[in-house]
Order: sequence, then structure tokens, then C-alpha cells
Amino acid sequence: MSDKKINVEKKEKKGLGLSTKIFIALIVGALAGVAIHYALPDSNFKNEVLIEGIFYVIGQGFIRLMQMLVVPLVFCSLVCGSMAIGDTKTLGKVGVKTICFYIATTALAVVIALTVANIIDPGIGLDMDSVEKAEMTTTAEDTDMVETLLNIIPKNPIGAMANGDMLPIILFALFVGIMLAKLGNKADVVASFFSQFNDVMMEMTMAIMKVAPIGVFCLIARTFANLGFSAFQPMLKYMGSVVLALVLQCFVVYQVLLFIFTRLNPLKFIKKFLPVMGFAFSTATSNATIPMSIDTLDKKMGVSKRISSFTVPLGATINMDGTSIMQGVAVIFIAQAYGIDLTIGNLATVVLTATLASIGTAGVPSVGLITLAMVLNSVGLPTEGIALIMGIDRILDMIRTAVNITGDAVCTTIVSHQEGALDKKVFNEA
Ligand code: ASP
Repeated sequence: MSDKKINVEKKEKKGLGLSTKIFIALIVGALAGVAIHYALPDSNFKNEVLIEGIFYVIGQGFIRLMQMLVVPLVFCSLVCGSMAIGDTKTLGKVGVKTICFYIATTALAVVIALTVANIIDPGIGLDMDSVEKAEMTTTAEDTDMVETLLNIIPKNPIGAMANGDMLPIILFALFVGIMLAKLGNKADVVASFFSQFNDVMMEMTMAIMKVAPIGVFCLIARTFANLGFSAFQPMLKYMGSVVLALVLQCFVVYQVLLFIFTRLNPLKFIKKFLPVMGFAFSTATSNATIPMSIDTLDKKMGVSKRISSFTVPLGATINMDGTSIMQGVAVIFIAQAYGIDLTIGNLATVVLTATLASIGTAGVPSVGLITLAMVLNSVGLPTEGIALIMGIDRILDMIRTAVNITGDAVCTTIVSHQEGALDKKVFNEA
């Protein structure tokens, strides 16, 4: 017993050490970036060697290492998860509950965003000439609803994996897992292959996480060294509105929901999940955060991988509350900046389209700006308005990605609790 305890304590210490290191990296990286931006004169060394050389290569290298794991990890852990659940009824129940939760929180997020923006009025009195307009690189995407739905069924699962298309991968993995459960002993070699391969992926995740502080430092330092802080000035009201709505969603809405449904301590949840938020913040990529999220939920919160292997990748794809918040505020901001009045009907349309926009879009940097075009189109606002917010979007992208993945984790914890797949002892451990 004592050996086991020592092992657990050792692991905890290691875990805590890593979380702290990630935080130090975040703060030092931000400070270093700002210092480089202001104190170092423009030179080849600053721009080519430091920012676009060392920081870029190490930062992107780290993101790629994490991305490398996403498809095999999601596939194997989902096969194992659905195999463990076994019956399609329970799986269906988990699926329906999760999707309803995701859609409801996203709609609520847009309502919060619209309310906050209507109170702060970020676009009123905006001096358009003072805004650094970025060159428009986004265009409204024509998305055919029927095709989008059909695309969930992969014509070729290997092709879906090669492209990293999350929804078809999820569908195929669920199917394989259910069939493995049905076949039982007849397919135990395949079943143990997936289960062992899953262990290998989790070990790789932990190995890569060891270098996370260095990766996070380089990503943050590069972003802050490149940020045009002067561009913030005229946009402060817009940025403040987005951040306020994000904070409300993350630290009020989610935590209230968590408490109501599970009676778990929200502060403990936030404390344990903060390193994952820090990781999402520095990478601005929900997808790359999947392995760390599943690992943290499993080891620190006692959430069974049976549930998280399904709900976390699903959430990274269809649940983007932070992104919808940015879109809600952006709609009001752009309407006010162009002096266009929005009716209540328009606002309801925004809630609907921003919620839909959050579904079926991959969790990668800046994708929210692309789907924003669709939301603006739905209420007849000029898509050129996106140019106004593009210049300062990177920093908001980082914050909203942290919120996006927190929404997935809260839902996962709630659903796990309801399915009896949450070990409260692990959650409550210091
Ligand atoms: N970067 C966000 C994510 O990965 C998506 C976005 O808002 O652009 O979740």
C-alpha cells in the first residue's frame, strides 16, 4: 500500500511541477515577447533569427508534436471507449446528452456576448480611420448543410484520418468499438491491440508534455514580440467586451453548471484545469489540446477515458463557445461601426447562425474569423467589417480557445458524473 501511495505522490509532484512550469513559461514568455517588441531595435537578429527563427521553429515544432498524436490517440481511445461502453443505447444517450449540452451552452454564450456588447457599445464612436485594417484574407464559405452532414460518414476512413477530419474519424471509431464489443473474445487480439496502442499514445503525450514549458515559452514570446500593441488602442472597447463575455462564460456559467449538475468544487476544477487552458491559450488550437485535455481529465479529475475519448474530440470540433462569443460581439461592433441597426429578429438569427457556425469547424487558429463571414452574411452586415478586427484577433483567439476547451471539459465532467464514470476521490485529491 505504501509503495502505491509513494508512486501516486511522486506522480502528483511531477504533475504539479509541470503545471507550475507551464505557468512560469506563459508569464516569462509574454514578458520576454513584450521586452523584445519594445527594447530590441529592428534588426535581422531580432526578426529573422529570434522571432521567425528560434521561437517559430521551436513553438511550431511543439504544436506539431502534439498534433501528430491527435488522430491516432482520438481513434484508439475512442475505439477502446466505445468498446468498454459496449451497448449502443448507452452510447446514444451519452451522445445525445453531450450534443444537447454543447448546443445549449453555445447558444447561451452568444446571448451573453450580445448582451455584453449591447451594454458596452464597442462600435459606437469608433474612429474608423484610426483602426489598422488588416488585408482581408477570409471569404464567406459556402457550406451546404446536406453535404456537411453527409461528410460525417467517411467514404474512406483512412482518407479522413489523413486529413484529420474529426467527425468522420469519431463515427468510424465508434462503429469499430461497438463491433469489437459485439464480437467479444472472437476479436480479442484486435481489441488488445487498440488498447495497447492507446497506452502507447498516452505515454507519448506525457513524454511530449515534458517539453511543454519550452514550447509554450517560444509560442508566447513570438506572439507578443509580433503584436502591434498600438493597434489595440481604438479597439479596447471591443476587446474588453469579448474578454468580459468570455470570463462570464468560463468562470460563471460553466462553474455554476458544474456545481448544479455534479456538486463538485468549481475552484478545484479551475485549479486542476488551468495548465490545459494555458496550453490552449499559447497554441490557439483546440485540436492540439485534445491529448492534454483527456490526460488531465483522467489523471487529475477522475474522469473516465470511456467518456472523455468521445466527448473531448467531439467538443473540439462542434463546441466553440468562446468563438461564438467573439462572433456575437463582432456582429454588434461591426453593425455599430457601420451605423446599421439590428432588429430583435436579426439578433435571434445571430444566435442561430453563430451556434451553427461553431459546429463542423475544426479547432484551429483563426477559424472563427472565417465562419464570422457566414454570421455577418446572415444578417446582411458587410463582411469587410472583419478587416477591422483581424489585426487584433490573435490575442482574442488565444483567450477564446482556452474557453472553448474548458466548455468541453465541463460537459465531459458532467456527463461522466451522470454515467457513473467519475472518480470523485481523484477529483478531490489535492
Ligand atoms: N482557435 C479556435 C480553436 O481552436 C477557433 C477560433 O476561434 O478561431 O478553438
